[in-house]
Amino acid sequence: MTTPADVLKLAKENGVKIVDIKFSDLPGTWQHFSVPVHVLTEDLFEDGLPFDGSSVRGFQHINESDMLIIPDANTAFLDPFTAVPTLSLTCNIFHPQDKRPYSRDPRYIAQKAEEYLRSTGIADTAYFGPEAEFYIFDNVRYASTDNKQYAEVDSVEAAWNTEGFEGGRSLGHLMTVKGGYFPVAPNDTYQDLRTEMVLNLEALGIKVEAHHHEVGAAGQCEIDYRFGTLVDTADKLLLFKYVIKNTARKYGKSVTFMPKPVYGDNGSGMHTHQSLWKDEKPLFFDKDGYAHLSKMARHYVAGILSHAPALLAIAAPSTNSYKRLVPGYEAPVNLVFSQGNRSAAVRIPVSENPKAKRIEFRPPDPTANPYLLFAALLMAGLDGVRRELEPSEYGFGPVDKDLFSMTPEELSEISSVPGSLDESLKALENDHAFLLEGDVFTPDVLEKYIELKREQAAAVRLRPAPIEFSMYYDA
Ligand code: GLN
Ligand code: MG
Ligand code: MG
Ligand code: MG
Repeated sequence: MTTPADVLKLAKENGVKIVDIKFSDLPGTWQHFSVPVHVLTEDLFEDGLPFDGSSVRGFQHINESDMLIIPDANTAFLDPFTAVPTLSLTCNIFHPQDKRPYSRDPRYIAQKAEEYLRSTGIADTAYFGPEAEFYIFDNVRYASTDNKQYAEVDSVEAAWNTEGFEGGRSLGHLMTVKGGYFPVAPNDTYQDLRTEMVLNLEALGIKVEAHHHEVGAAGQCEIDYRFGTLVDTADKLLLFKYVIKNTARKYGKSVTFMPKPVYGDNGSGMHTHQSLWKDEKPLFFDKDGYAHLSKMARHYVAGILSHAPALLAIAAPSTNSYKRLVPGYEAPVNLVFSQGNRSAAVRIPVSENPKAKRIEFRPPDPTANPYLLFAALLMAGLDGVRRELEPSEYGFGPVDKDLFSMTPEELSEISSVPGSLDESLKALENDHAFLLEGDVFTPDVLEKYIELKREQAAAVRLRPAPIEFSMYYDA
């Protein structure tokens, strides 16, 4: 625990001049404003600062826009990317009149999910471990003068997205399609950049487990950090993205966490590992169970799989997400669980160690808001535990075959992930009671979320796509 006094001391010792006030908007992107260091007092952590919430995605209307923002001392860090010594604080959002927490603050929803877990008595701690993959590209995105169109001129990416070029360019050490996992340099040109990202992450208290090039040949990478509790791990994910993007930027590169930036190669997922614990003991292990899973773990899996279509509105929340969730790219398509099988939506990593026993949900991608994602997964899992759902009763497996090579007849027995953001949003609209338990999610935030995501879906649906010109122009 870091106290406000600790934060003041940290600021003083490091000659901090500016304090950066950060929070997550509803889609899960960091937003910020800055104040001079004299604003940083112990009272700031009680009284907060006023701010206008009206122009923030998913927040307030203009007629009720005054909000209050209060920092959490535990999130303090010294920003390594600013020219002037800057201390950063992540915050929660409140109503200024009565200091009521704001129902659309994603961090508050995550905090409520942790409290709700304890109130059930099922467990006291849920651990989450996200594996966010990303692509590194050259930093050359050009905007048209009216700012409405962009042109990507990175040669590799541009070529690979063009019909007839997929995998067609193999120049010297350039990796070929799906060939990124994981030859050494000179094929892997990002070793030093990833190492610098890792050192920056570790300096900020994010403990890294490994870094590597990923399968996607046009610069896909992965850096995994150690699992942790719900809110803390979500806080860290936003810091993680910030560090990765800004480290790349120093070298004229840009990083994208979008799920499918390159046609014909692997997309970027954010597999999410989960386990429940009580009194410091793991609850997901049973040496006699299938894949050494306990009964509780099986119920948890069934909860997640039975709510999966609705969960995907939060786990795979972009129109682009559904270009990743297709067969053939190590992304899951089928709603089953399996030991060690990477084509299943839930994989049970092989492990003899009770403390390492966990489940891996593979559909999420890094465009998910981690606060909402972890909270929603926990709520779905707990719903399964409470109702003692068995995966096999719902056709959720276990299935240990390679799902990508099953016949259509075999596959017709198995349900699959929704095919579009619109479908997932519809599923969430029809199935969200499990999220409302304990007022963790509220109807207000779900309605706003669905509205926001429908706008995104429509924005894509209404525009002609480049490929349509090559298919229909000459019709
Ligand atoms: N990139 C794959 C996905 O989209 C995962 C690859 C892997 O980590 N095995 O989920
Ligand atoms: Mg991994
Ligand atoms: Mg991976
Ligand atoms: Mg994984």
